[in-house]
Amino acid sequence: MPANKKYDFLIVGAGLYGAVFAHEAKKHGKTSLVIDKREHIGGNTFCKKIEDINVHAYGAHIFHTNDKRIWDYVNDFVPFNRYTNSPVANYKGKLYNLPFNMNTFYQLWGVKTPLEAKEIIEKQSNKYKKTRPENLEEQALSLVGEDIYFKLIKGYTEKQWGRKATELPAFIIKRLPLRFTFDNNYFNDSYQGIPIGGYNELTGALLEGIDVQLGINYFKHKKALDDKAHKIVFTGKIDEYYDYEFGKLQYRGLRFDHQILDTDNYQGNAVINYTENEIPYTRILEHKHFEFGQQKKTVITKEFPLEASTESEPYYPINDDRNNKIYLEYKKKASKDSIIFGGRLAEYKYYDMHQVIAAALTKTKNLFEN
Ligand code: UDP
Repeated sequence: MPANKKYDFLIVGAGLYGAVFAHEAKKHGKTSLVIDKREHIGGNTFCKKIEDINVHAYGAHIFHTNDKRIWDYVNDFVPFNRYTNSPVANYKGKLYNLPFNMNTFYQLWGVKTPLEAKEIIEKQSNKYKKTRPENLEEQALSLVGEDIYFKLIKGYTEKQWGRKATELPAFIIKRLPLRFTFDNNYFNDSYQGIPIGGYNELTGALLEGIDVQLGINYFKHKKALDDKAHKIVFTGKIDEYYDYEFGKLQYRGLRFDHQILDTDNYQGNAVINYTENEIPYTRILEHKHFEFGQQKKTVITKEFPLEASTESEPYYPINDDRNNKIYLEYKKKASKDSIIFGGRLAEYKYYDMHQVIAAALTKTKNLFEN
């Protein structure tokens, strides 16, 4: 880019939203400069090669979608493998299949038929059924009954969110369905998998031919960076962008404890959840199993949830009433600004990867094709 010419877009954040936006802009003849404060692209999808294993450096990322258009879109950049997420829960040393299905019901109660399982769940959940559950605990008890709730949901959820289940919104557990078949596939979506070679293959391909500058703190050099482009796309925290004017939005953070182990197979599964309260981490990942790795060693990661602060970056928006109200104030302000806000942090939404991509595609389609 010649020194006196401006980019069409300055994109703050090289995660999935920024990468898809930049790619689509380029397709429509627009130029972008993508910056990120981290030293790598990909945001939280970034994979770090350790012992020849693609380690999900910021926690488990499993791609799944019901939208063929999104599935075809990502597969155009990189082929995906046939990984199917089937996490196992460990509660006080006993293992249970997830999501809650006939295998889980057999492990919990020894029941062998859907009818027997339904009878138990109905007996345990009936007294909690009322018109509208007010919080996660009420919602869970009315849906799955006591055993499943107390063994497999309550402890995990309270660790994960750092709040009592009675203080959490019900929508968080929307994706824990009851399934009366012997099917351990965690997702209901038609398509799922992991990019062969890891997520950097996807974000690298999206950003091919686009100017990217890493290790740059936007807020430190805001004026100079803003001057480089006609329009700003911001994918960081919206409350930080507006200098916390309406108050801080809360996020859950994570601390990762990565370990290299001198064994070829530590836990036999990519994800094992620890659902009791007494164990401080929520899950252990064994990364090689995301790609059916045959390496001699293995790398595991314990995920310790904590409140996002200086100790941890923000991962999960906490969409309770208080935070949603604050977010709406930022959103109102943003709608009067010419900045484009997109992605999990800028839209304060518990987005999955496919939803982030869909949001960026919708935005760019509206901008460039209307
Ligand atoms: N959850 C649970 N027990 C589990 C796994 C998940 O109760 O063993 C609940 C918990 O409230 C969690 C939510 O389901 O926050 C969503 O979990 P999931 O692992 O699907 O989300 P991710 O953290 O991967 O975005």
